[in-house]
Amino acid sequence: MVDLLMRLVRIDTNSYERKNYDEITKLISEEAKRIGCIVERIVDNKGIPHLKIMLPNAPMDAKKVIFLTHYDVVPAGEGWDFDPFEPFVRDGKVFGRGASDDKSGIVATLAAYKEILERQLIPQIYPILIVAGGEETGEGADFFKSIQGDIGVVLDVGPEGLSIGASGVVRAKIKVYGVQTHSAYPFKGKNAIYLAMKIIAFLEALGEKLIKEVRSKYSAPEGYDRLPARLNVTMIKGGVAPNIIPGECEILVDRRTIPEENADKVAVELKDLIEKFAMENEINVDVEAYKLADAWVTQDEGVIRKFQEILRDITGIKPRLVVELGGTDGIHLIDRMPVIQFGALRGDNNIHGKNEFVHIDDLELVKKFVEKVILTKF
Ligand SMILES: [Zn+2]
Repeated sequence: MVDLLMRLVRIDTNSYERKNYDEITKLISEEAKRIGCIVERIVDNKGIPHLKIMLPNAPMDAKKVIFLTHYDVVPAGEGWDFDPFEPFVRDGKVFGRGASDDKSGIVATLAAYKEILERQLIPQIYPILIVAGGEETGEGADFFKSIQGDIGVVLDVGPEGLSIGASGVVRAKIKVYGVQTHSAYPFKGKNAIYLAMKIIAFLEALGEKLIKEVRSKYSAPEGYDRLPARLNVTMIKGGVAPNIIPGECEILVDRRTIPEENADKVAVELKDLIEKFAMENEINVDVEAYKLADAWVTQDEGVIRKFQEILRDITGIKPRLVVELGGTDGIHLIDRMPVIQFGALRGDNNIHGKNEFVHIDDLELVKKFVEKVILTKF
């Protein structure tokens, strides 16, 4: 696993440049065929290649279980202590961009396939490993939506619990209006940045209140024992020149919803709250708020219980059920199949950051998990 992972990490598959997509799908495809798998290569209407990798000895009439991974990575970015595409092993970890997110899932599943074939074990499901491209840019969404199966397993998350859902996202854009004027004559204007500050302070307090008061019955993988609603001001734009009192300032808000909330309703309520505060403080605003994604949770208790048993057999501990703090590609499957999430992307892995790594123990854990799923009848 470590050897193949290092070969995959060495190929920079920067999602924003669609870099080396052909090269990496060729390598993975050859590797999968070498161990005896069936490989199907699909090029979507955006020209992005994806792979479907199957076991030749799997029963066609069994439940189709989709294992979801992706080969593309976010750009390396700045500040690394080493070359992000010269992977190495240290202290039981493999370092490099993509070592965790999400090349770990690809190698863990291929290792499970290899073991099943070598030991001539009989699959109890029909596994389909999806190795997608364009995940990090969202370009893969249409491809994910086209995948058919009976159960989805997203390997693009951490192993801190058995993950059965994901948070939703609401965004808001607030335009704050003042009166623009020369900064030497402030009495003639009204500073939009100062007005925006009041709204930002209001939103900060609102965010703190949400974390305390709006909590899911589900756990979060890390950071909180119960998944909370979250709100943050993530961008501000304002000002045109050093000697102009700004007449406009824009505030962007990112609001994460829990499964018990309805994102459309949250958007309406957020807009109302901001408008009410602005009116009370005599601030002129335009507020747009909209749902980007609803939170979701798998409802199939039979499937959840089976996956909990699988993990309990491997680790000796019954895993707690968690809902992701961020979004996952499970959202593209959940309308037609139950979705379970478990992978090697542990909280300390610095995914999307500098010095990304994966714990080799987690690769082993995910490999065992995938193997056990394949050998379980659903
Ligand atoms: Zn990922």
